[in-house]
Amino acid sequence: MIPQEKLNQLKQKLEGEKETIEQEIKELEKAPDFGDSAADPEAEEVDEAEEWSTNNALSQNLKVRLLEINSALSKIINGGEYGICEKCGKEMEIGLLEIDPESRLCKECKLNTKL
Ligand SMILES: [Zn+2]
Repeated sequence: MIPQEKLNQLKQKLEGEKETIEQEIKELEKAPDFGDSAADPEAEEVDEAEEWSTNNALSQNLKVRLLEINSALSKIINGGEYGICEKCGKEMEIGLLEIDPESRLCKECKLNTKL
């Protein structure tokens, strides 16, 4: 079992990460900023479109992380199976949770699972 004090620390960490990520997603999903230097409008439009799709991919990744963070948080809040590996059912090391509090797999399973 993870001590309550540690659990509170991890919860705070997750909440902090959640805020940061939500902020980043907001930034990434801002509409591209058209209208500055119109030296070569056509070329610029292509750049903007490329940037837009890169940003979209980034924000998709962040959204996946956000889901994992939310799921970890709800496990902590509901006193559920937080810290239990979803693959082998073993308790995860606290050291791992400190580095990666939204982790759903223990160290061993992580190594054996190519994501
Ligand atoms: Zn495992």
